[in-house]
Amino acid sequence: MSQRTADSIRSTRLRATKQRIAILDALKSGKKPLSIKAIVTLLGKQADQVTVYRTLELFRRAGLVTRLEFRDNRAYYEYKDSHDHHHIVCVECRTMEDVFGCEYEAFAKGALRQSKKFSRITDHSFELFGICKSCSR
Ligand SMILES: [Zn+2]
Ligand SMILES: [Zn+2]
Ligand SMILES: [Zn+2]
Repeated sequence: MSQRTADSIRSTRLRATKQRIAILDALKSGKKPLSIKAIVTLLGKQADQVTVYRTLELFRRAGLVTRLEFRDNRAYYEYKDSHDHHHIVCVECRTMEDVFGCEYEAFAKGALRQSKKFSRITDHSFELFGICKSCSR
């Protein structure tokens, strides 16, 4: 159980229970977006699916994790570190890779200039889909 994980949970004014620490630790050490099912498997008997889902949504609202979708009707969650990044997903085998260098702020500014209805952009989501090298052989 990691003290730093407990601290980052407490910094959002949430209580750092054993279960919550285990769930956030699983995401941190996973270093990639994980589905709820994958997290439940990682945790073994420490938490059931409903608890994991509720905890992740709690973390999401507190800004500790990001929720992602990759067009397979599943929600994925990833630990939110300070570096904005996105993912390339292989449409054949679902393998994933992180990519950096998103020009979100410039794009958001342009979007606001075009927009007639919005005054503020608060967040963004963006994923790339393609074919990985082992699938293109
Ligand atoms: Zn990632
Ligand atoms: Zn592939
Ligand atoms: Zn971005």
